[in-house]
Amino acid sequence: MSDTPPSAGEGLPVQPDLSLPSQPRINLPSSPPLPELPEDPPATSLADCAPCCGFSASTRFSSIADDVYFSNPIDYWAMENRGHISVAEPAAPNAVVVKKTVSLTYQMGANATDHSARILTELSDAFSEWERVASSARVRVKMIGCPDKDLRILLQHEIVPSGGDIIIRVDNTPVPPDPNDELRSYVDGGTDMTHYLNGGDSWVMVHEIGHTIGLGDEYLYESPSTTEPVITVYGHDMNDFVLTIPYAGQHPVDPAAPAGKAPLHFFENPTVMGQYGNMTFRTYMYYWVAYETSQALASDGRLNGVYIV
Ligand SMILES: [Zn+2]
Repeated sequence: MSDTPPSAGEGLPVQPDLSLPSQPRINLPSSPPLPELPEDPPATSLADCAPCCGFSASTRFSSIADDVYFSNPIDYWAMENRGHISVAEPAAPNAVVVKKTVSLTYQMGANATDHSARILTELSDAFSEWERVASSARVRVKMIGCPDKDLRILLQHEIVPSGGDIIIRVDNTPVPPDPNDELRSYVDGGTDMTHYLNGGDSWVMVHEIGHTIGLGDEYLYESPSTTEPVITVYGHDMNDFVLTIPYAGQHPVDPAAPAGKAPLHFFENPTVMGQYGNMTFRTYMYYWVAYETSQALASDGRLNGVYIV
């Protein structure tokens, strides 16, 4: 899952065994037949219950990540994760498929003829990377009376002419002469990306796609305090994952700052969301898939928990 060993707290709680013990049906020969009830009790063995343990869901979703996925003191804007989710649908019975539509616009000298090929490649590579890393995780769905079901995670995207779940503004602003004015791509509100063609290499798209699936930054520059920021990723049915962003040093003094100005500090986590060029992914970055799966299946009264394992 990651190049780094999991830290304390990332491990999943021991889950109770929810499968029901096998019980013989009791037939009293002298009893009159009972009328059929609309709610039959769950089948009494896993073998019996195979036909009734199926589940699936297909729906659009839209969550404000800062409210439902995590508490993050670093990002100050509400990030929306928007798309379509299908869970164990016939087309992919053993998978959770998250699909986002993407539309591209061009500004500041960028145009489709010259720049769409590069953007489409970066976009495809970025989704593939997030999906490739997810391939070592499973979404475990627990239903009362049924065996656990483990599902793969697939992350798909589709280019649409307009109105996508993600808008990418491809921007060809030239590199500014002042190195302090570095062009930094960003995602506004989780859905509106400004992508500078002259603002870094292909890692940038991988990081920015992380924002569009609801992940916050794991770095903080120019803090007046040396206190390490703490992000809590909500586990919902799992334990929360508590992430402390490590102190990385005193920020270089801004030459324009007045003498005697208090020093500033910076913090960064050695992951794809925390450090330029870093391609370390962690399990908690997919907790939102469990949340959205749970939401999609919520109408099934047997649902007893969704986990990333
Ligand atoms: Zn970022």
